[in-house]
Amino acid sequence: MSQPANTRGFDFFSAGELPAPALPTDEVVAIVREHWGLDVELDGLGSQQDQNFLARARVPAHRADDAGEPDAPIGVVKITNPAFTADELDAQDHAASRIADAAPHLRIATTSVADDGSPRSIVAETSEGPLAVRLLEYLPGGTLTGPTYLSRAVVARMGEVAAHASLALSGFDHPGLDRVLQWDLRVADRVVDLLARYHPDPAKRERVTDAAARAWADVQAVASELPQQAVHLDLTDDNVVCTTERGIRLPDGMIDFGDVTRSWAVSELAITISSVLHHAGAEPVSVLPAVRAFHALRPLSASEVRALWPLVVLRGAVLVVSGEQQVQIDGGANAYAAEGVEREWRIFEQATSVPSAVMTRLIAEALGVELADGRADASRHRPTRIGLDPAPDHARTVHLDVSITSDEVDAGAWLAPGLEDRLALAALDAGAPMAWLERATPRLTASRTHSPDSAETVPTGIDVWFAVATRVSAGGDDARLVVEAADGMTILDGTVPARTRARIRLEAPDAPAHVPHLVRPEVAPGWLALTADPAVAIGLAPSARDRGDAARDAADLVARRDRTFAEVQEHYYDAPPRIERGWREHLVGTDGRVYLDMVNNVTPLGHGHPALAAAVAKQLRTLNTNSRFNYGAVVEFSERLAAMAPDPLDTVFLVNSGSEATDLAIRVALAATGRRDVVSVLEAYHGWTYASDAVSTSTADNPNALASRPDWVHAVEAPNPFRGRYRGEEAARYAPEAAERIRELAASGRPPAAFIAETFYGNAGGIPLPDGYLAEVYAAVRETGGLAIADEVQAGYGRLGRWFWGFEQQGVVPDVIAVAKAAGNGYPLGAVITTREIAARFRTQGYFFSSTGGSPASSIAGLTVLDAFRDKGLQRNAAETGAHLKSRLEALAERHPLIGAVHGLGLYLGVEFVRDRATLEPATEETAAICDRLRELGVIMQPTGDHQNVLKVKPPLVVTRESADFFVAMLDRVLAEGW
Ligand code: PMP
Repeated sequence: MSQPANTRGFDFFSAGELPAPALPTDEVVAIVREHWGLDVELDGLGSQQDQNFLARARVPAHRADDAGEPDAPIGVVKITNPAFTADELDAQDHAASRIADAAPHLRIATTSVADDGSPRSIVAETSEGPLAVRLLEYLPGGTLTGPTYLSRAVVARMGEVAAHASLALSGFDHPGLDRVLQWDLRVADRVVDLLARYHPDPAKRERVTDAAARAWADVQAVASELPQQAVHLDLTDDNVVCTTERGIRLPDGMIDFGDVTRSWAVSELAITISSVLHHAGAEPVSVLPAVRAFHALRPLSASEVRALWPLVVLRGAVLVVSGEQQVQIDGGANAYAAEGVEREWRIFEQATSVPSAVMTRLIAEALGVELADGRADASRHRPTRIGLDPAPDHARTVHLDVSITSDEVDAGAWLAPGLEDRLALAALDAGAPMAWLERATPRLTASRTHSPDSAETVPTGIDVWFAVATRVSAGGDDARLVVEAADGMTILDGTVPARTRARIRLEAPDAPAHVPHLVRPEVAPGWLALTADPAVAIGLAPSARDRGDAARDAADLVARRDRTFAEVQEHYYDAPPRIERGWREHLVGTDGRVYLDMVNNVTPLGHGHPALAAAVAKQLRTLNTNSRFNYGAVVEFSERLAAMAPDPLDTVFLVNSGSEATDLAIRVALAATGRRDVVSVLEAYHGWTYASDAVSTSTADNPNALASRPDWVHAVEAPNPFRGRYRGEEAARYAPEAAERIRELAASGRPPAAFIAETFYGNAGGIPLPDGYLAEVYAAVRETGGLAIADEVQAGYGRLGRWFWGFEQQGVVPDVIAVAKAAGNGYPLGAVITTREIAARFRTQGYFFSSTGGSPASSIAGLTVLDAFRDKGLQRNAAETGAHLKSRLEALAERHPLIGAVHGLGLYLGVEFVRDRATLEPATEETAAICDRLRELGVIMQPTGDHQNVLKVKPPLVVTRESADFFVAMLDRVLAEGW
């Protein structure tokens, strides 16, 4: 690409070296005083080619108590490199005000204006000769400079900011745009050619020049179709400024118009997204939110989509060689340039970590843009046929399935190496001439646990095993047929030995030279668009993806769910993965991504438990009916459950859920006492049914809870020793106050039927009750003739480690226990356990019957869970792994001030986040963002508590120490890298 013949402004190629002005600070202070009449204090800011200072007004000594201390920043003093013309500076100033006018919701660092309203640039006579000096608006809030993690929301905002600049500048013309900058990607090929020699490492230099040459060729293919316009050209992480709202920083402004020029419009976006790539955890797909956001405001054409990733690669190459050159010009003195070298290399490495052809397809798919380029996608390059010799009888071939919904991967079979080969050889042994695995469907066998990155689970081709040596050959058009052995070595003559795996792919002519057989799900759409399905060419079934019945799109599923579910039924995460399998403490998405489940207290035995599945399945095959029939399971389970409870609690009612259990517990108490009032504890959740909801006051679950309780509910203070009314030692005051309230109620003629509370403060974040709390309150309620109800739905069943029931930790025995969740390991099962006498008084309410409460299948589930508690050391693991986990989390708290406290016991822990350890201001938004980031790193975690600022750490009780350590490592990483 050639620049205009007679460039009026700066021309990088003829300018030579560009050492930045380096005026002494005193001199600049004097210039500002002389020309702006301001008395300022200056701090140097980094810049590669200009000299910039942050200016603060110096308060005159006679007007300030703290004599002469600098005030808040009033602007940025910019001394422009003398290589640039006045026209160029004027173009920059006008570009800034144009964006400010067009996008009033953005903050723009415009240039201070003269009396006539025009931007003011003065030429000062300095010790380095005449230099242009301007005072730019200072925008507080800081940039995104640095290595911190950028969330999807931040990246999307960067794309939006770039789009607003692009839209505002689209009609802008000015003589000062006529310049040739080294950052103008229209000349990237020449810049790389010119500066590559500065790279001290020959191997890296070659990587850069090779990648740049390929990217340049890709851009040239569409260059004539790329619209050109005025561009900011430097809307990077360093030049967007942020506002922090409720703990979350988002870019909403831009600075530094020094590179404003005319170029390809799409360069604006390419430069913005390149700057994301060096941040912690960033990879090519991390920029997609910015691309989507840009496209939504300023749609990209097919040619621009084709050019985008090659331009990102070119930007990376230009940054690398320019950075190395700058270091050498400055002799290492410019720390700003030296620091940049590593960052710039990371950008280049990331930009080239996925081939441009793949990224282009991926972006096109993400935007829904058809790449109308005359070159058909691989699907149109199918050879008419792949021949097999000898040809197997298709009717007898075995189509293997190791997707996450396959039975073959049950019970953790996917974790044992060699499963695919074993299945294939078993099929051949059973007489099949051929066994095969389809393309495009994620293979769970290729995944792994405890990984911060997704695994390469998506096959770009098929895997085959033949009973006899078979020759594979293509008879078709121009797609490449590749036949590989299991180790990835090409089988040149296409003859696959008997009973060994071969991998077969059909690659489009424009696919990269090396197509991996398995790719990560995030980039799979790009690779799949560049390959075709060999199964179809052989005459076998197309992949589930091509059959259109894969239905694996998580976003689509959420949309369908939202259409049918009432809006009040929430789901975890804004963009949840589609989870269709679990194993022990792991959950698996349909793309094969394995997550560590640190939140699921419904499944103490873990997910996909084979003994439970077998027992329930057998019961469903034999008998499942209502509990009025006389069958063994319900009796046996009731006996076993009653035996788990302390004397005199020996009588059991079986229901289906925690809400039913607490509701029934309340009704039992009302019936037994003939009273109508109930005392509960603030910030608690007990369920959704009428009575269980009435005693629930958690504002996280119902923001109107406090205002809308029926008159028979009387809530006492939440006994929270961390952030409640009484803290630390003072927490001993909660119990006497609650007891007093109960006595007052009795004295006023409304003695309560019951006091209901969780025995361990689960809903508030896994906080133990103050010592002696339940003893004192239970005594008070009993003294007035009421009953003590223990909600053990979360805390009970061994989770606390040393104690099976939460009330044991408090040294009390309640009158009524409500239990559910863990009791059925996710199978609907709840229970109320009380004394015979209290149960008998429920007679006044007629009969009690719940059709499926205690059904044969539920009872069998309950028995199997109790067997596991007896035999598998779950409670011991809760104590041991829980203690280990807690101590590791406490160690994190020493390094990360956001952690205000680590609450809890056993495997019921809470990590509470605060913005300030003194005020305990809850870090609510941060907690949500941290959970999102943990999910990206392979950990399922959710917030809890009225302020939603506590991580609820309550994993399946089979969680291993290794899993606990992985969770801690990921949390540490998020707290260190950002969220
Ligand atoms: N009590 C407590 C303490 C709970 O945490 C819950 C559920 N979160 C319930 C009762 C209600 O249980 P379910 O959702 O099974 O109805």
